Amino acid sequence: MKFFGFKGGVHPPENKIQTENKTIENLNAPKLVYISLLQHIGSTLEPLVAVGDRVLKGQKIADISAFLSSPVHASVSGIVKQIEEYPFPLMGKVKTIVIENDGADEWVELEKIENWGGATKEELLSQIREKGIVGLGGACFPTHIKLNPPKDVTVDTLLLNGAECEPYLNSDNRVMLEEPEKVVEGIKIMQHILGVKSAIIGIEDNKTAAIASMKKACEGTDIKVMSLKTMYPQGGEKSLIKAILNREVPCGKLPFSVGVIVDNTTTAAAIYDAVVNGIPLIEKVVTVTGKAIKEPKNLRVAIGTQISELLNNCGYEESMVEKIVVGGPMMGAAQFTLDVPVIKGTSGLLALTSTETNGCKPKACIGCGKCIDACPMGLQPIMYARLGEFQQWEEMAEYNLMDCIECGSCSYICPSNRPLTEAIKIGKAKLRAMKK
Ligand code: SF4
Ligand code: SF4
Repeated sequence: MKFFGFKGGVHPPENKIQTENKTIENLNAPKLVYISLLQHIGSTLEPLVAVGDRVLKGQKIADISAFLSSPVHASVSGIVKQIEEYPFPLMGKVKTIVIENDGADEWVELEKIENWGGATKEELLSQIREKGIVGLGGACFPTHIKLNPPKDVTVDTLLLNGAECEPYLNSDNRVMLEEPEKVVEGIKIMQHILGVKSAIIGIEDNKTAAIASMKKACEGTDIKVMSLKTMYPQGGEKSLIKAILNREVPCGKLPFSVGVIVDNTTTAAAIYDAVVNGIPLIEKVVTVTGKAIKEPKNLRVAIGTQISELLNNCGYEESMVEKIVVGGPMMGAAQFTLDVPVIKGTSGLLALTSTETNGCKPKACIGCGKCIDACPMGLQPIMYARLGEFQQWEEMAEYNLMDCIECGSCSYICPSNRPLTEAIKIGKAKLRAMKK
């Protein structure tokens, strides 16, 4: 298969070596778990339980009838202690169900579809929704919606994102190494739902063991594995489609407009567990690393575990920490408290020292155009910073601001350390507020 590459992009230091060979370890569920009611793109959920209720592991505890939504489930058995606003890793506070773990590890009865080949598309989509499956590449888009494109659209290819292009992270990598059969079976279920024969897994060439692992698991199937030249942000949907299929998704359009659905390899494994084993999305593999971490690891943790538990398990030098980031260094969110919980979209937890962060002050733009060259979406980041300074939000929209995937490549490459991604995030928030 030919590799076409994509426009722009950058190649930051990979920093994967610290955890790429670390087998996934299970972290014991803590005494209290904090289940946020907004773990997907869409509406905040409504609790289905009350304070004082006993819940079982895997029990659905919050849902809403809104179209763009996905329920959440208890990741431990125990008693609901509180339902209140709590810190949220992506920003501010979100309504959260706090469960006191009773240590009994008592599961709810799991409804399975073991013979999924005999199930209808509707039955499988309903199961995937009920089990709370969302895209685990970071976007957390509800998977049952993504796998149900409009009827007048023809999808011919399913792309699986195994690129894991963010530096430092190895959670997808380890899942492809340790659970390749689950990934393959999940992809087969997705092919069955979409009625699509062609499925391609794209993996960056800095993960040779994962490429070999997935190729072996795919033997005798219709699924192909493609090695991709390492470049950030290859895992962006539009970048991946261009790199593998040489198709360009037009501005403002979604991948299905060019006949493609893109999903993440770890999401495929979660689909397998949801359908065949009836297990909802209640745990996540998180890479815990950074120079301030004593023993970097890949941990499988219960959703709702506070990040302080992960840091304590791995050990960290508090005095060395310059920044705590949930996610990767390019797209992750800096944290101001260790009380935030792991949510479904959490793939990494970084404790970075001053040598790993860019603490330089912004200087004047020198008009070098490097930010424009680096942008994988063909945008003009330089304009967002200029217009943002004068609060010209509508003019930012005219420069296709909403097409920005917030990959951070422009900020990374800027020799003047201009706060480009920050201006973009503020501009988007202002435009969304103006629409309300
Ligand atoms: S403008 Fe957006 S998409 Fe383009 S490089 Fe900057 S953050 Fe990435
Ligand atoms: S990379 Fe930085 S200095 Fe160069 S044009 Fe863009 S904003 Fe200006």
